[in-house]
Formats: sequence, C-alpha cells, structure tokens
Amino acid sequence: MQYRLAADTPVTWVGNDRVRVGGVVRAVTVADTQLTHDLISELRNGAEREYLERIAATHPDRKRADELLVDALLSVCSPVAEQSARRARVLVRTPSSSVSFARSVAAEFARRGHHVVFAAAEARPAADTDLVVEVTERVLSPRRYLPLMADDLAHLVIARDDEGILLGPFVLPGRTPCLRCDDLRNAAEDDMWIATATQLHDLPPAHPPLELEWLAAVVGAQSVEPFLAGVQPAPGEGLTFRRERLTGLRRDGADVEFQPGCGCQAPGETVLAAVPARAKGAVDLGLA
Ligand SMILES: [Zn+2]
Repeated sequence: MQYRLAADTPVTWVGNDRVRVGGVVRAVTVADTQLTHDLISELRNGAEREYLERIAATHPDRKRADELLVDALLSVCSPVAEQSARRARVLVRTPSSSVSFARSVAAEFARRGHHVVFAAAEARPAADTDLVVEVTERVLSPRRYLPLMADDLAHLVIARDDEGILLGPFVLPGRTPCLRCDDLRNAAEDDMWIATATQLHDLPPAHPPLELEWLAAVVGAQSVEPFLAGVQPAPGEGLTFRRERLTGLRRDGADVEFQPGCGCQAPGETVLAAVPARAKGAVDLGLA
C-alpha cells in the first residue's frame, strides 16, 4: 500500500535536532537528520513502507535515526488508492442553512482526489456512492439516516451546534453502531429526547468560527481517508463507535454503542459486545 504525506504538511524545526512533521491535527516529532528529510520527500510523492524501510536500513544516517522513524512518519500520512483503482465517490448532502460549511467539507474531499457530488439534504444517493457525508444542524433527522441504513450506504455525520462541531459517528451499516442506536440511547436516558431533538431541528443555525469549520472538514475527511482507500476500519478507528466534538483546539470524544433494540447489528458482528438494554419501552424513531 502506498502512503502519501500531504503536500501542505508543515515540517518545523523544534530544537535539539528534532523536527515536527504535521499540522494541528496529526503530528510527530522525529530526529532532524538527512534520512528524515529524504523519507519525507519520498512520502510527498507517495511511497510504500517496504521501500522506506529499505532506504532507512541502507542510509548513511541510519545510526542517528529514531528506531521507529518510518512508523512515526507513516502515522502522519494517508494511504493512497492504487493508481488503477477508481476514485471513491463521495456525496455531501446539506440543508440550505449550512451550504457554505458543506462546500468547505466537499472541497476537502475533492482536494484529496475523491469524486465529490454536492447536493441538497433530500437528494438520493447514486447506487455507486461509497460514502455519504451528512452535513446538518445539531442533530440528523431519521428521515435522512434511515434510508441510508436501508440502502447499506456508509455515512459520516458532521453537525454544527452552539458549542462547536460534532463529527461522527461514521456508520458502516450492520458493522458499526448507527445513529438510531444513538437516538435510542438518548431516548432511554431522557424521556423528552424525541421532543428535544425535534426542537433542535427548528432552532436557527449555529455559526461556529470559520477556522473551526475548516478544521472539522479536515478532521472529518481524514477520518474516512483509509476507508475511501479500501481499508475497513477496526472498531473505534476513523470515528466508528465514536463521535467527537471540536471546540476551538479541543477535541472531546464520546462512545457510540450498538443498542440491541435497534436491530442494526449484522449477525456475526461481535466486535463489541452489545450493551445491556437500559430497560424502557420501545421508542419509535421511524419515518411515520
Ligand atoms: Zn443501530
């Protein structure tokens, strides 16, 4: 598999013969050696791990290098799809209130070389869509997510609210907990949740700072990059089983779990044990 270091990734000298490779979101600090810089320039063009390890093993600088230098550099790179592979198809859907934010999300996916379709929230995804990015205000309505479950389409939610931007969960239908799982848990914990969620839809849109919207676009796109390159995420990777809230430079995470009452978990998917039902009556989150 090929890995690539994004062309705009900063490399900064941090003193004591160390350099920092990466931006705000992902960065590593490694020895400032010729070997490091040679590996970085290979990675800017795209390189395979075995090739980098061969360079590291034979380089005159190898004795000064960090033992895990190649691993460290790969951790700030993204896997790239094989040249022959078709470009991943990403549909970005948005309500009219968040069109400009959704455009920056779409632009980030396009910058990464994906085929991006930009559409209104009600648009139906084409059958060959690899990922639907659901940009929304506060909470995503079941009207938007239930058809995606029925069509077995991977989807990532990016929601603006008054405290910042919520990213995730990234849902692989049947394999990772869905948004209905999350709604059911909220409803089990709070009798008023469905009414609250309905009211949240009707509030005027939140307007987080533009920098935060830009950061959310980058973090969101980065989280699904391996998936779009054909790598199935392990549980907990890439915002599966998880949602994160970005507020300024802080990232707070919360787990999203399968809810037995949802029934979305495919048989044989025992990657995480289902949590015991928090006994409450069934909650209808259907499309009535
Ligand atoms: Zn579910």
